[in-house]
Amino acid sequence: MSAPGWEPVIGLEIHVQLSTRTKMFCGCALSFGEQPNTRTCPVCLGHPGTLPTLNAQAIHYGLMISIALGSEIAPRSIFHRKNYFYPDLPKGYQISQYDIPLASGGRLDVPGGPTVRIHRAHLEEDAAKLIHVGESGRIHGAGSSVVDYNRGGTPLVEIVTEPDVRSAADAREFLQLLRTTLKQIGVSDVNMEEGSLRCDANVSVRPAGEDGYRTKTELKNMNSFRFLERGIDAEIARQVATWESGGSVVQETIHFDPVTGSLTPLRSKEEVHDYRYFPEPDLVPLAPTEEMIERARAALPELPAARLERYQADFGLAPEVAGTLVGWSELGAFFEESVAAGNGNAAAIARWTTGELVAHLREHGIEDPRQSKLSPHGLAELVRMVESRTLSRSAAKDVLAELTSKGGEPAAIVEARGLAPIADSGELEAIVERAIETNAAAVEQIRKGKAQAAGAIVGAVMRETKGRADGAEVNRLIREKLGL
Ligand SMILES: [Zn+2]
Repeated sequence: MSAPGWEPVIGLEIHVQLSTRTKMFCGCALSFGEQPNTRTCPVCLGHPGTLPTLNAQAIHYGLMISIALGSEIAPRSIFHRKNYFYPDLPKGYQISQYDIPLASGGRLDVPGGPTVRIHRAHLEEDAAKLIHVGESGRIHGAGSSVVDYNRGGTPLVEIVTEPDVRSAADAREFLQLLRTTLKQIGVSDVNMEEGSLRCDANVSVRPAGEDGYRTKTELKNMNSFRFLERGIDAEIARQVATWESGGSVVQETIHFDPVTGSLTPLRSKEEVHDYRYFPEPDLVPLAPTEEMIERARAALPELPAARLERYQADFGLAPEVAGTLVGWSELGAFFEESVAAGNGNAAAIARWTTGELVAHLREHGIEDPRQSKLSPHGLAELVRMVESRTLSRSAAKDVLAELTSKGGEPAAIVEARGLAPIADSGELEAIVERAIETNAAAVEQIRKGKAQAAGAIVGAVMRETKGRADGAEVNRLIREKLGL
């Protein structure tokens, strides 16, 4: 989407739920769909007289994220109380970080895409979950509302970017790389639908070439990459139309409805909260020791950018193929295991992984190839057979479909289904000759120079041989028979 003459300015705020065992300031276990209000204690329910205790694992994860983003870790960061009165907040305030966050600066480079600088990353606790009963699904107009405190106190890292993003597509690409990075370092399950990765976008537009920023609006909680992209596009279009019609964009929070594509303001200006931040008196400043930082650094696995470079350098993969494998971490892991099992042939395995296997996974809505019946060894073996011409490409596609749905060994499937290539060249020659005779029209086209017309003849041969013929050999025979 583009609005000629206008430049979008987008910054993102990402909330990452950390996959620690317990909550941020108490010993309650994190909740995964348990009965409401069963994962609570006096601390996370905000009873008077209780005291928060910092979760060491959450700090460790926060440090890992900061280092992965190349951010500078504050020698001494402070927890603040962010005061607001709302039923999802039993204490009447959220413990967060304010003027001195855990980490500042840093950047994430999307290969072939935008470079986005990181403004800050800080630790905080999540609010409880409000469920509104009624048609609106929101607090206004709800017949009644109930609260589930299980989520209250879950550790979060909030990552805020600089306003470096210039399109909805770039926002999606950045968020995808950030999600892959967080998943790879193992600090969160980054499930957007379930809310463990939530993204808000601050959006403004300005005439191309104008310095400074115009008024921005905030799009809240878009829970999929598609909605994020569509929501930002819709908001850019709305703002451009507003300015072009002589109006002004008002600072407000906006909800994007992915079903109708409509944008609705959530809070009006007079409801913007005064959070009255002040230092949390019950927590000492967070001063990570050298040892803590080193431990976080040592815990980091290979990051996506480094992996992308390695795939291209070590395996000789094209940038797009390497990018697909890196961006889809389960697929990349499966590819590497398959290369290890197949003792090489990485380029061919990568082609099959990002081509036929991806098509199959998408068709069946599978995210991790390991959830299919295909084994890394099975894929390596299949590719080896194709490369050594003991299996035709089209027959290999059928075998792959069976491997992913039922499992087994490629050689056994080829044997059982009679898919071995036609070994007797005389037999194939006879079939090609028959196909040429019955496809006179195609032959005429080929003689007129339309080489692609040979497809009809190749297709006839493949039907007759049930895909067991070698495509290159069939083409060679057609040219030979027609004296080309
Ligand atoms: Zn608790």
